[in-house]
Amino acid sequence: MELNSKKLERTSRLIYFTISVMLCFFLVLLSNRIIDDIDRLTESPMQDQFENKVIRKELDKKMELISIEVDNLNNKKALIEKTIATAKENYTNEKQSFDNWLQTRKTLGSPDKDQEVIARAKQLDEFYKIEQDWRVQLNTKQAEIELKEKEQAVIQQKIDKEIVAGSVKYDKVYKQYELKVFLIRLLFVGPILALGIFFFIRYRRHKFWPLFFGFTLFSIYTFFFGLVPYLPSYGGYVHYAVGIVLSLGLGYYAIKTIRQFIEQKQAELKISTQERAKNVQVEVAEKALDNHFCPSCGKDFLIKKWETPTKNNDTEVYKLVTNYCRHCGLELFKNCGACGHKNFAHLPFCAACGVPSSTTNS
Ligand SMILES: [Zn+2]
Ligand SMILES: [Zn+2]
Repeated sequence: MELNSKKLERTSRLIYFTISVMLCFFLVLLSNRIIDDIDRLTESPMQDQFENKVIRKELDKKMELISIEVDNLNNKKALIEKTIATAKENYTNEKQSFDNWLQTRKTLGSPDKDQEVIARAKQLDEFYKIEQDWRVQLNTKQAEIELKEKEQAVIQQKIDKEIVAGSVKYDKVYKQYELKVFLIRLLFVGPILALGIFFFIRYRRHKFWPLFFGFTLFSIYTFFFGLVPYLPSYGGYVHYAVGIVLSLGLGYYAIKTIRQFIEQKQAELKISTQERAKNVQVEVAEKALDNHFCPSCGKDFLIKKWETPTKNNDTEVYKLVTNYCRHCGLELFKNCGACGHKNFAHLPFCAACGVPSSTTNS
C-alpha cells in the first residue's frame, strides 16, 4: 500500500478534529441536561407574590363598587338627556302652534290683551319650565358623576402605590434569585473551565490531544453560554471586570508563550551548526525543502538570480541554492558520501543512490 504521508497527515488531522468536536458536542448536550435539572431546584419568584393581597383586594372591591355606581349614574344621565330632548321638542311644537294661533288671531283682528292669549302663553311657559327643571337634574347628576370619578382616581393612586411597593420587593428578591442561580452555575462551570484550561496548557501535545482538546472546547462553550449570560450585572461592573480579567489572562499567556518561543529560537541559533543539524526533524526538513526555508532559522535559502553573478561553471540549478544557510550557517546541501550527488542535508536518504544520509559525510 502506498503511504502518501501528506494526505495521511491531512486526513488524520481531520479525524482528530472531528473526534474533538464530537466529544465536545456530547459533553455540551449532557451538561445542558444537568444544568436544566439544577435550575429546576431554584424557583423563580413571581411578581404578584409581593403585593399586600388584603389591601389590594379591598381596594379592588371598592373600585368595582364605584365603577358600578358611576355606570348607574351615567345611565340615569342618559335617560335625563333623552327626557330633555323630548321636553325641548314639546316646547318647540307648542311654541310653533302658539305662534300660528296668535298669527291667526291677529289676522282676524281680535284684541291683543286677551285672557285666552295669556292662558296659552302661561301654558307655553310651563313647557319651558319643565325643560329647565330637567336641565337642573342633569347638572346634579353630572356633579355626582364627577365626585365619584374623583374617588376612583384616589383609589387608583392607592392601587398604583401598592403595585410599586410590591415590585420594589420583587426586584430585590429577584436579584437574590439571579445571584443564587449564578453561584450554582459557577460551582458547576468553574471546575470545568479550570480543567479545560489546564488540559489546553498541559496536554496540547499529548498522544490523545484530540480528547483533551474536545474537553477544552466544551469548557469554553459552557463558560460563554452557561455562565456569562447569568453573570450578575451591577450596572455592567461585573461584565466589564470579567472581560478585563480575561483579556489580561489571555494576553499574559500569549505574550509569555511567544516570547518563550522567540528566546528558544535565539538560543538554538547560538548552538553550533552540527548540533542544530542533528535536531532537525524529518517533518520539518520536508516542509523546509518544499517551501525553501532553512529548517533552523526559518529564512528563505533560494538565491534570486540577481543576487549572484552568472559567470561560473556550475549548472544553472545549483546557482539558486547554497550549501550553507547564509543567515545562520546551517548546512543545507551536501554531497552524498557514496555517489557524490548533491542532496538536501536533512533528509534521510540520498536521492541518487539511496544510501542512508547518516553514513555519508561532507
Ligand atoms: Zn538558517
Ligand atoms: Zn548517493
